[in-house]
Amino acid sequence: MGHKKVCLNCRKAFNQNSDFEIQSGFTCPECGQKMVEVNYKFRPPKKSDLKAWQVSKFLIENGFSYQHIYKNIDNRNGLADKENYVDYPKSMSDAKKFVTVYKNQAITK
Ligand SMILES: [Zn+2]
Repeated sequence: MGHKKVCLNCRKAFNQNSDFEIQSGFTCPECGQKMVEVNYKFRPPKKSDLKAWQVSKFLIENGFSYQHIYKNIDNRNGLADKENYVDYPKSMSDAKKFVTVYKNQAITK
């Protein structure tokens, strides 16, 4: 499993393994701001898609770094994983609901 580093300021994602420049730290090579680590499954929106980035930022800041979220965490073994995964929301209103509904699965630091 890999991770991606994301600079929410530049709206760019870096693959941790292929970009040696960022292996030494968590700061963005372009703007020097602290980057966040997200699941490798994260598909970065287009740089110009500000709305999509806003949603991603909101989710990441609330502990949803694109890790798997389960529809039913208690029944994780009863269902095939794929059927139990929740898709990440694309709009801000869905994201707000998502954060509330799945807050017990958020990664808190
Ligand atoms: Zn940056």
